[in-house]
Amino acid sequence: MSLYLPIAFLLLQLAVLALFGPAVTGPASYILMVVAPLFAAAATFWRGRSHTSTIRFGWYALSLSLTIWAVGAFDNLWQEMILHRRDEMYRTAMEAFSLAVVPTTFLVASDWRLNDRQLLRVVDALVALALGCSYFQYTWSMIHDHASSTEAGVTYLVWLLDFQNLYLALAALVRWYVAEDSDERDLFRALAVHLWVYFVIVFVNDHYFAGNPAFGPQYGTVVTVAFAVLCGFALRGPSGQPVRLVNSAVVRTVRSGIPILLALALLTASLLLIRVEYLWGCAGILIAVLGIGVRTTLIQVHHIQHREALKREASALQTIAWTDALTGVPNRHFFTEALTRAWRDERRPAMHAILMIDIDHFKLLNDRYGHPVGDGCLREVARVLQGALARPDDVLARYGGEEFIALLRGCTAAGAQVVAERLRSAVQQLRLENASSPELVVTISIGIASGALADGAAAGRLVEAADRALYEAKISGRNRVRLATNRISPDAETEASISARHRRLRS
Ligand code: GH3
Ligand code: MG
Ligand code: MG
Repeated sequence: MSLYLPIAFLLLQLAVLALFGPAVTGPASYILMVVAPLFAAAATFWRGRSHTSTIRFGWYALSLSLTIWAVGAFDNLWQEMILHRRDEMYRTAMEAFSLAVVPTTFLVASDWRLNDRQLLRVVDALVALALGCSYFQYTWSMIHDHASSTEAGVTYLVWLLDFQNLYLALAALVRWYVAEDSDERDLFRALAVHLWVYFVIVFVNDHYFAGNPAFGPQYGTVVTVAFAVLCGFALRGPSGQPVRLVNSAVVRTVRSGIPILLALALLTASLLLIRVEYLWGCAGILIAVLGIGVRTTLIQVHHIQHREALKREASALQTIAWTDALTGVPNRHFFTEALTRAWRDERRPAMHAILMIDIDHFKLLNDRYGHPVGDGCLREVARVLQGALARPDDVLARYGGEEFIALLRGCTAAGAQVVAERLRSAVQQLRLENASSPELVVTISIGIASGALADGAAAGRLVEAADRALYEAKISGRNRVRLATNRISPDAETEASISARHRRLRS
């Protein structure tokens, strides 16, 4: 239908032009020039209504453009058929033809489908409107006050019109190429084909037929075929074909670059206009520069907001990634990071302590009271352990199952023993029932290892030593604290290694 309709319409027109004389085709052509764009306006409006997404505004914009064009054609009809004037250049008609281009220009030159960019849309629409006004001011003032009544002047204006039509047709082609989905592709394909047909017919008519005595002015009506093209595409309905994937860098560049071309077009038109209408030209230049400025600022603001939101999201995600979901204390991953930071960021070698903490007879508690009670017990123990660690530098984490681990930075073995005893006693004081334990309440055992953190391997050895000390606490009766007494006696060895590092640092 998108092809048959315009072809049939073209053949019908040519047949009528060949068969009937100017007495019939003259008035008929004026009427057709009004009716054809109105039909296309109705078809595009109908198509817009069939969409629920933002694409419908694209079709509405096309409909508006066609309606304004029809107003221009009606002014021609009114002047020529009712008032019997023979000027061929009427102000309202010319104004309408210039303004009809505004919605189309906006369509191809703005990223109007982005929902969160209302202000950008307003800026683009204003620049497009200023472009339409500048274009009209320039051509009107050239026709009336300047040399355009001469042959050279008319040729110049015709070329200007060709340039404008070509610019729009090319832009629509590019937008068709970078369309993101099938609805957008349908819209820009219809627009591109319409604009190319319009451009070619107007070009051929203005350069070869107009002024040729063999063809009357009624031959200009052939341009209505371009409206039949739009009718065909609009009435066909969504094609639904999947879009070809275009390189996303190209799509991004085109979408962000095209509005700059809009401002550049206004700048060019205003520079031409300034020679004939100084104030209008200045206003156009001002709007073009402000348009680019406001656009850049808005995009900048949008990017800053976007970046800040991403930062907040990333930090929220990191908190989730580093927190144990059940107890709310940091998890093992966080602890590993903290331990790495402890030895990597250390400026002066110092003693650190690691506490490996395990709930006693937890399996029996689970078996007796059920998992939900076990979970509640884990949460309570975690809360109490966290509360009993006094220094802000201390890190407590759930290591896995019913095991917790603590890193006490800058803490000697003796200091760590005091802290561990405080933790053990705090959990016992909670008096959480565990009838399966000899103490009848929930208790914990703690293994301590203390030493310097020279590197990752030393940190790993310290964790292992704390784990061994925990094992000793378990086999010697539970509910107690044990300091690592392994081969590498922590204090003697590590103090030796600290003085060795001091010596290294001094040399
Ligand atoms: P010990 O005194 O020697 O430490 O004995 P235990 O029973 O505490 O240790 P064991 O390793 O035998 O059992 C640990 C239990 O912890 C087994 C497992 O079902 C339970 N557990 C591990 N993670 C969770 C959890 O997230 N929630 C609950 N409710 N139980 C858990
Ligand atoms: Mg246990
Ligand atoms: Mg365990």
